Amino acid sequence: MQTIDLEKISTDNLSVPAYKEKNLEVDILRIDKIHPVVSGNKWFKLRYYLEEAQQQKKSTIVTFGGAWSNHIVATAAACRLNNLSSIGIIRGEESETPSSTLLEARQLGMQLVFISRDAYKSKELPASLRNRDDCYIISEGGYGIKGAKGAATILDHGLEKNYTHICCAAGTGTMTAGLLVHPSQADTISVSVLKNNFQLEDDIRHLVNNKKKPVIIHDYHFGGYAKHTPALLSFMNEFYKQTGIPSDFVYTGKLFFTINDLVSNNYFKSGSKLLAIHSGGLQGNRSLSKGTLIF
Ligand SMILES: *Cc1c(COP(=O)(O)O)cnc(C)c1O
Repeated sequence: MQTIDLEKISTDNLSVPAYKEKNLEVDILRIDKIHPVVSGNKWFKLRYYLEEAQQQKKSTIVTFGGAWSNHIVATAAACRLNNLSSIGIIRGEESETPSSTLLEARQLGMQLVFISRDAYKSKELPASLRNRDDCYIISEGGYGIKGAKGAATILDHGLEKNYTHICCAAGTGTMTAGLLVHPSQADTISVSVLKNNFQLEDDIRHLVNNKKKPVIIHDYHFGGYAKHTPALLSFMNEFYKQTGIPSDFVYTGKLFFTINDLVSNNYFKSGSKLLAIHSGGLQGNRSLSKGTLIF
């Protein structure tokens, strides 16, 4: 199996006329390129949890997610690479036609345990797992202090310029929390992909004790988590045509759309230099019907 390759990370400068006209530089940090499955921020968030599990001599990682979860398939792959067993607690009843994400997780050796949506809400472990002492539990999406610490190492890459803004998408806010820790002067802009998740700010503060606060943008959820609109999908296709960079409709598509819109609305002063994190997640596009995206 392919290993994680941090050498593949690149910083791609966008040559988009609309950005140049406003004297803006926009670079994309391509952490999506480190691995085809454990792509992007999920590996960075997982790295210190896996290290701790190994230190504690736990042989099995247990975590939570939905049928199309980037975190589930990334955990399955990362565990395989680290010779750990993995168990995914999956939200909802098992479907007769499992998602490609779950099929792949299973192929990577993950055992899947399906629980009802109600039981999932409380994140309670199924009885069969409760008394096992070989298990190390990672919360949904890798949310937690170790996740943020891992995400902070994203910025060991790609900070060649004096960026004025570092932009990312946020689900649990773990990556945003990690990026905040960096001593650079840049403002952190975080685009929430959930609808009206105003708790996000507190969730982030809970992970980092930092004076710096992110600017959290709540206006580009396109209907909510994993929801999309024709405008979003056609933007993603257009963005790919212009830049050659594929995005996913759950996270990075919304991030790039937001940046594009903020630029049109003159949010950024002339001379600003933006670094946007391409946090991966392309596998999730498999839930769209074929032909929706041109990449
Ligand atoms: C999970 C994920 C995020 C969100 O990260 P959080 O740390 O949960 O905020 C962003 N982008 C992609 C591609 C992801 O898979």
